[in-house]
Amino acid sequence: MKEEIRMDKCPRCFKNISWIEERVRKGRRYYYAVHYEGHSRVGGRVRRRIKKCYLGPRVYEYVSRMHSDIGLSLHGFMVRDRFLKYLEMISGCIPYLDPEVLRDVRDRLARVIPIIDDRLNYASRGKRGLE
Ligand SMILES: [Zn+2]
Repeated sequence: MKEEIRMDKCPRCFKNISWIEERVRKGRRYYYAVHYEGHSRVGGRVRRRIKKCYLGPRVYEYVSRMHSDIGLSLHGFMVRDRFLKYLEMISGCIPYLDPEVLRDVRDRLARVIPIIDDRLNYASRGKRGLE
C-alpha cells in the first residue's frame, strides 16, 4: 500500500505543491515536489508547465552510515517530524556518553530551554491576540 504524503508548501521554494512525485533509481526512492504552473500550446500540442523541487529520499542512507556511531540516521524533507526524530535519536545516546561530554550537553540544553520558553510565550500571546 502506498503511503499518503501530505505536504502543502514546498520546503525549498515555499510555493504550493501540486503533487509529490516519487522516482525509484537503483532501488532507492527519491521525492520531488511538483509545482503545476499552467499549460501552454506548442504547435498543436498542449504542454503543461511544471517545476520540480528535489526533496531527497526519506533517509540519507550513505550519510547516515557516517553518523552510525551516534545512532543518527538523517532524513529528507519527506519526513516532516525529523526534528523530533533527531532529538529522540540523540537522547538515546546520552546513557553512553562520557561525563565530560554530558556536562557540555547539559550546559547547551540549559541554554536552549529559555529560547523554547520565549518562543512558547510568544506563541501563546499570539493566540490570545486572535481571540
Ligand atoms: Zn518547490
